[in-house]
Amino acid sequence: MKLQNELTIAKEAVRQASVLCASVQSSLGSVVQLDKADKSPVTVADYGAQALVLNILAEAFPEDPAVGEEDAGELRDPENAPLLSSIIEQVQKVDSSLERNRILDSIDRGCHTGGPSGRFWTLDPIDGTKGFLRGDQYAVALALIIDGEVVLGVLGCPNLTVDPYVSNPQVGTILYAVKGQGAYRAPRSDLSRAFKITCDQISDPALAVFCESVETGHTAHGWSKKITELLGSKSKPFRIDSQCKYAAVSLGQASIYLRLPTRPGYEEKIWDHAAGYIILMEAGGRISDTLGQPLDFSVGRTLRNNQGIVATSSGVFDLVLQATIESA
Ligand code: AMP
Ligand code: MG
Repeated sequence: MKLQNELTIAKEAVRQASVLCASVQSSLGSVVQLDKADKSPVTVADYGAQALVLNILAEAFPEDPAVGEEDAGELRDPENAPLLSSIIEQVQKVDSSLERNRILDSIDRGCHTGGPSGRFWTLDPIDGTKGFLRGDQYAVALALIIDGEVVLGVLGCPNLTVDPYVSNPQVGTILYAVKGQGAYRAPRSDLSRAFKITCDQISDPALAVFCESVETGHTAHGWSKKITELLGSKSKPFRIDSQCKYAAVSLGQASIYLRLPTRPGYEEKIWDHAAGYIILMEAGGRISDTLGQPLDFSVGRTLRNNQGIVATSSGVFDLVLQATIESA
């Protein structure tokens, strides 16, 4: 599987979206936001990033549908004209050729239903919007799924700096992987400066650093405390927003990422995991749900066949999964 053109285009799309998001986050005081029906926040940057990425994909791969987190329904409501104006302004700072209708139509390209056959992209334009609004970590997450399998992923992490060559901490990191070809990171300012990444090699979970969501509504902190106690880990939880958690494990900065359902019936969204999943798998990690089932990206916009996520470096996976099942 080569997918080199797809990778080049996906990296450029995520790079442009990361530039937009970083610019909006640097002037957060004036950010216009909406609360969606589920009460989660969505900002000018979520919409702007989705417009940039899905426009680039539409130009390069017009036949490919996309499963994106946002849609432009509310933006077409005259009441939200000020939000739409700011989105247009931010998008045009990055690509001055995009006008209003093209921006709205690009956002609406994310309406695909997903499923088991064919190829489609999935995008979270800002994963971790709550972190973004706090001024913390967030990610632009883009993945390609073919016949129900994630085959390519790119994660833009604008506030994650891991490259000692880069003196400006503002540029952040882009991580990416193609199935069977390893995982890489590069500074956003120079994508040609790419380094292969791998998870840590530890086998004693007592030595593991584990990470989880900052948000108590997104993962059960009490359950993860029980798991780490069972494993004898003394490490304090490393709480970080977004798929930067997959990045942290892929980079060897943490060994375990736990996402433990806070209520029955919550279905994880495919865009919250697809890019991080393939990057971590290609960095040598292992991933299942909290029952040990493989993640199933073939059943629509959510991972409805799965419950939560256990993602780790390979040497500790079996013990972490066992502790997760025992403590459920
Ligand atoms: P994080 O930054 O790890 O907390 O992940 C942010 C993502 O959590 C958002 O993109 C949401 O899609 C997702 N999310 C929202 N509600 C829940 C929930 N109840 N359980 C798990 N994830 C959720
Ligand atoms: Mg998300």
